[in-house]
Amino acid sequence: MIHAILTIDDIASRNTPAIVDYLNEKGIAALMFAVGQNVERYYDNAIYAIQHGMIVGNHSYSHPAFSKLTFEEARAEIEKNEALLDRLYKDAGEVRRFRPFRFPYGDKGGANKEALQAYFREYGFHKLSDSQIPFGFWKAMGLDRDVDTLWTFDFAEYNIRPNSGFTVDDVWKRVFDREPFSGGALLQDGTSHILLLHAHDETEELVPGYYRQFIDCLLENGVTFDVPTFFEP
Ligand SMILES: [Zn+2]
Repeated sequence: MIHAILTIDDIASRNTPAIVDYLNEKGIAALMFAVGQNVERYYDNAIYAIQHGMIVGNHSYSHPAFSKLTFEEARAEIEKNEALLDRLYKDAGEVRRFRPFRFPYGDKGGANKEALQAYFREYGFHKLSDSQIPFGFWKAMGLDRDVDTLWTFDFAEYNIRPNSGFTVDDVWKRVFDREPFSGGALLQDGTSHILLLHAHDETEELVPGYYRQFIDCLLENGVTFDVPTFFEP
């Protein structure tokens, strides 16, 4: 058995409702990390995700690299989006039970890293349950202690862009890689993963239904998608 939590970054987008419909069809509840600016642009699509069983977490207001921000700027980025997500859940008519956070680019804030972790603890942010992750690097890097949500496998499909040289074949290589650099092979029996995918209309234009292709493949290869659960803050 291979277990996975699906996380989808950078919502909302034009293709968010189609992704949500597909996930509902497959019985998958994803944790979607929202960028405030994108939520403002596609507000109804973000509402749709909440009303159809997805958990929406905070991915900052404008998607900056946090190591380039002061602590106060970082906090403002987080809190501006928190206020927006509170309003979003209210408008969706759903209770906001969880407050997970993911840093853009996985950039944990450089010099402010520990101060930001302390901030997450003090303000009741939720840590995604990660006790099943078996990979040595997870503990070696202290990721088991951090409150923010990183990932163990990145489809990297956001690199598929005109002239980037990165194609859908490169995604398949990652999916089937038995010895990835991280040490966390995706299709290895007995593992448990946090998967990173993105809701990007640019990818949709180049590879229509890209999320469907990738997730269908995982389902065919024995991956079970778990409902995201969280540690109490
Ligand atoms: Zn992002």
